Amino acid sequence: MTSDEKETIYNLLKLSSSWVYGYKSPKFQGDSIAFDDDVIEFVEPKPAPSSDAMATEVPQSEAIDIESAPPKVTGQQPSDNGGITIESICSKISTCRNCVLSNTRTNTVPGEGVQHPYVMVIGEGPGEDEDKTGRPFVGKAGQLLDKMLAAIGLSRTTNCYIANIVKCRPPMNRTPMPDEANACAGYLQAQIHILKPKFILAMGRTAAQNLLKTNTGINTLRGNWLELQFGNEKIPLMATFHPSALLRDERLKAPAWQDLKKFREKLLAEKPDYAEVFYTQQ
Ligand code: SF4
Repeated sequence: MTSDEKETIYNLLKLSSSWVYGYKSPKFQGDSIAFDDDVIEFVEPKPAPSSDAMATEVPQSEAIDIESAPPKVTGQQPSDNGGITIESICSKISTCRNCVLSNTRTNTVPGEGVQHPYVMVIGEGPGEDEDKTGRPFVGKAGQLLDKMLAAIGLSRTTNCYIANIVKCRPPMNRTPMPDEANACAGYLQAQIHILKPKFILAMGRTAAQNLLKTNTGINTLRGNWLELQFGNEKIPLMATFHPSALLRDERLKAPAWQDLKKFREKLLAEKPDYAEVFYTQQ
């Protein structure tokens, strides 16, 4: 394949990513790539090597690991967001038909919070109340979430942004299917890219598993400092139980509180005044 052909395909993928999600994913935000032609060299065939020569190993310095060879890069990474804003992403979401959840939703629920959040809180998907209002975490579970966040000096009006894995309500509040979560993933990536949270708090199994691309259960994931690989960055992430789970089973409140205290310790260590505005508003 020639370098021109490769570049055409790359640009088509970049364009479709921007068109679908209103934003270029981190995969397309690095330096511009200089593609090479695939060169096939015709060389005069050499006589077959002797059995002794066949046994000679290629020196390690001459071996080429094609899998790990990085693409050549040139140019500088653009420093702005290319005109993409949280509002433009919300606008894209409001008309999205990328998955079947669009057939049964009343409102899309893109998320809400401050523009420069210290923490991004990510849940599973909208429920009935959220579907009616277009706002995340406003039902009983949402009220409990607000209390959990307030206990560690966080709120959606001072230092958090709250979003979900899927932006439309799954019927009967079922867990989002993998294809639905995948269809919606670009919007969440766009939000993380624009908001640049310093920490992520994943609420429940579905959020943690989708963010971390794992099948490990919430009982194993929760309460540990993990990392979300995002482009070239790693964002510290902790998972804990979803507030809906706490409403169903009171016994989970104690371990969830342990998780939140551990989360707060690190927030404080990194930025001792992170909750200053929150407490002045109380
Ligand atoms: S859940 Fe996400 S991908 Fe599916 S229709 Fe809603 S916004 Fe689009």
